[in-house]
Amino acid sequence: MKPDVILCHYGEIGLKGKNRGYFEKKLQENLRKTLKKFSPDTFSSIGRMFGRLIIRLNKQGQNEIDSLNAALKNVCGMVYFAPAFKVVQNKDKITKLAVELMSVEDYNSFRVTTRRTDKDFPVSKQKMNEDVGAAILEATGKMVNLNHPDKTCFIDIVDGKAFVYTERFNGQSGLPVGVSGKVMSMLSGGIDSPVAAYYAMKRGAVVSFVHFHSVPYTNEASIEKVREMIEKLQVFQQKISLHLVELAPIQKEVMVLTAEKYRIILYRRFMVRISEALAKIQKAKALVTGDSLGQVASQTLENMSVIEEAISVPLLRPLIGFDKLEIITKAREIETYDISIQPDQDCCALFVPKHPATKARLVDVIIEEKKLDVEMLIQQAIKNVKTEIFE
Ligand code: ATP
Ligand code: MG
Repeated sequence: MKPDVILCHYGEIGLKGKNRGYFEKKLQENLRKTLKKFSPDTFSSIGRMFGRLIIRLNKQGQNEIDSLNAALKNVCGMVYFAPAFKVVQNKDKITKLAVELMSVEDYNSFRVTTRRTDKDFPVSKQKMNEDVGAAILEATGKMVNLNHPDKTCFIDIVDGKAFVYTERFNGQSGLPVGVSGKVMSMLSGGIDSPVAAYYAMKRGAVVSFVHFHSVPYTNEASIEKVREMIEKLQVFQQKISLHLVELAPIQKEVMVLTAEKYRIILYRRFMVRISEALAKIQKAKALVTGDSLGQVASQTLENMSVIEEAISVPLLRPLIGFDKLEIITKAREIETYDISIQPDQDCCALFVPKHPATKARLVDVIIEEKKLDVEMLIQQAIKNVKTEIFE
């Protein structure tokens, strides 16, 4: 037997009062984008139905259900989804289908869970659970276990129809990408920043990326790495833009003209300023970084605030409370970890001071910065930005 539809459930977005219609529409649009890589013959429509979205499968989709499931697992804003079998709203027909689906050997104990959204259906959910349960028991001889069943037979009675299914898969939860506006994420090639970007996507932001490199003083490895990371992140957000910025001209000026111990902070202030300028061009409303408090000597509150002082848009740090191990676990899950640990030549590893300031004071940094033509350097960097679109 092959499922007729995939029922998609969202949790949080169901709660959002008058925004609900907007959220549902975004999720619907994102489901369509996620399934775009499959042939148009895979499904006939993606409809909305009482707090769920329903993907109506064609024959081809039924045959490719495993690959569809794998793609749908990446959808943000979806709590879970279930390939389901459609049946008319008739108790005997529902029972027959449920018995058929449960007549398999891969479990010992079971329960039936009915949801009756359609109050026109004359049988209560309790009665459905009991009667369908009894029929399954009789047909299969399996045990009922209400608290810890190996398998659950779900019955969804909704919108004049009924659906039966036994398998559910988790989506990414969170909010659909696109409901929270745009952000500009600073992607370094390290472990943390792609994970930070993932969390911004998961809270509904559309993420654009900026990467700073020191080519020709370094090789192109970091650029290649961020490209590969973006390809991984495309399972969550299909269209992504990447801005590649040359940091070397700025680094040269900083190195020649300013005190050594402030170099890293000065580079960083340039990075956030350029990112902010790019964000404004793109109508992005915040920057995102992979900073986590105290992880390295430079990530002190003092340094963070001196860096942030250079810009006026909010700088979001989704990983601020994460341990390194937690970040690594997530990086493995989203498949960016193996790319991150490839060797590269980080732009900030170039011309690094021996003793960087760990608790820089803004007044001292500003004295150093006055030695540079900040505005000109930023304009020049922006003029030379190379933008790549991934879709
Ligand atoms: P990551 O693993 O993300 O590189 P990290 O622990 O190495 O982080 P830092 O090197 O201090 O920490 O960088 C902090 C944040 O600054 C990064 O997470 C990233 O968002 C941003 N960043 C650092 N270097 C670059 C770069 N070359 N291009 C763009 N963003 C950068
Ligand atoms: Mg790094």
